[in-house]
Amino acid sequence: MTIQAIKGTRDILPDEAERWQRVEEAARRVFRRYGFREIRTPIFESTELFTRVIGEGTDIVSKEMYTFTDRGERSLTLRPENTAPVVRAAIEHHLFQRPDCERLYYSGPMFRYERPQKGRMRQFSQIGVEAFGSDAPALDAEVMEMALSFLVALDIPDASLQINSVGCEACRNLYREKLREALADKVGELCSDCQRRYRENPLRILDCKVGCRRFLEGAPTLLDTLDEPCREHFQAVRQCLDRLEVAYRVDPMLVRGLDYYTRTTFEVLGASLGAQNALLGGGRYDGLVKSLGGPAVPGFGFASGVDRLVLSLPEETQEKRRGPDLFIATLGAAAWEPALLLARNLRRKDLWIEWEPAPGKSPKAQARRADRLGARHLLFLGEEELKRGIWTLKNMEEGSQKELRASDLDALVKELLR
Ligand code: AMP
Repeated sequence: MTIQAIKGTRDILPDEAERWQRVEEAARRVFRRYGFREIRTPIFESTELFTRVIGEGTDIVSKEMYTFTDRGERSLTLRPENTAPVVRAAIEHHLFQRPDCERLYYSGPMFRYERPQKGRMRQFSQIGVEAFGSDAPALDAEVMEMALSFLVALDIPDASLQINSVGCEACRNLYREKLREALADKVGELCSDCQRRYRENPLRILDCKVGCRRFLEGAPTLLDTLDEPCREHFQAVRQCLDRLEVAYRVDPMLVRGLDYYTRTTFEVLGASLGAQNALLGGGRYDGLVKSLGGPAVPGFGFASGVDRLVLSLPEETQEKRRGPDLFIATLGAAAWEPALLLARNLRRKDLWIEWEPAPGKSPKAQARRADRLGARHLLFLGEEELKRGIWTLKNMEEGSQKELRASDLDALVKELLR
C-alpha cells in the first residue's frame, strides 16, 4: 500500500501555497504598522507548559494534545496553541524589560487531535499576536481593530467581530456558582462531558460542542456578574471601539476554549465557512505571565487560523500566475554551455529563467514546455545563432520577434523586463 498523508493533515500544493504566502505577507505588512515583531518558538515544548496555562479541564488539554515521551523520558507536547510558548520564551529571554519586544507575532503549525472536517484539521496553521505590558482598554480595542484591518487587507468580506468580557478570577468564581445554581435541576440532561464540567468548571459548558448551551437560555450571563472594575474596563473597550468606528456584537456567551483569559474575549466570524466559522479569536490574559513565573505583566492577543483565512479569500483576488520571464531552448550540443551560462547571468539580474538542461531535446518539445510553463519569452540558441552572434527573442504574449546582439546582455534584460 502506498503511504498517504495522516488523517487531519494536508499537503499545501504550489497553487494553494501562493495563497498562503499572500496571507502571511498581509499579516507582516499590517502587523508592522502597529509595531509587532516576529518571534519563532519551537513546535514542541514541555507538556507542563500547556497543562498549566491552558487548563486541565479544557478540551485542548484533556483530549486534544499530541503528547509523547521522548528518548530522554521527558513528556513533550506538539504545541496546540502558541500563547503559552511565546510567554515562556519572553520570560526566559527577559523580553518584558525591552519595549521593542513588547509586541510580538508568530506564524506556524499547531496540533490538536480534533475530529477533522472542513476548516478543522489536526495540523493547522495560526498567525497570532501578543501585546504585553498594558491593561488599558485602548490596547484591547487597538488589537481588535488591527485584526479587522488584517482581514480587510485580505479582502475577506463580511467578517463580524463578537466581543465579551469573562471578568477577573473573582467574577468567574461567582459566575461558576450562578451557573451551578441555574443548571442544578438539569444536570442529568447535560452531555457526559458537561456533567463533568458542571462539577469541575461549569464555565466550560458555554463552549460545549454538542449543544448543551441551550440549557443556559435565561441563565445569568457573565456580563451580569462582572464586578465594578471589570464592568468599567469592558465599557471603556466598547467606547474605544466605537471611537475607532469598529462594528461589533456583544455575545455574552463567548468564553473561548482556554482558561487563561481575563476580561475581554473576542472572536471574528467569517461569512463563508459553514460550521467552523471562527477566523480568529483571542482576548486579554492579565495573570498568565505571572502564573508562569514571570513578572506581573498584562497581555492581550489573538490567533487567526490560516487554513480558514485561505478558504475565505475571494476568488477574484487570485492573481493570474506569472510565468517565467524567459525559456531558453537549445539546438545542438554546442548550444548547451552558452545556454547554461546565459541562464545563470540572467538569474543574477533577478529574472526567472527556465531552460532545458538535457541536451538533444527536439525544438518542438522545448517550445511546448515553454508554453506549458507560461513563459513570457522564448529564445532559441542554435549553431546558427551562435555563429552570427545574433539571437532571436520571441515574445510569447504578443507573438512578436526581435533580433538582439548576443554580446548585449543589458538589451536582453531590458527586453525581458518590458
Ligand atoms: P484558538 O487557538 O482555539 O483560540 O483558535 C484560534 C483560531 O485558530 C480559530 O479561530 C481558528 O481559525 C483556528 N483554529 C483553531 N483550531 C483549528 C483547527 N483544528 N483547524 C483549523 N483551524 C483551527
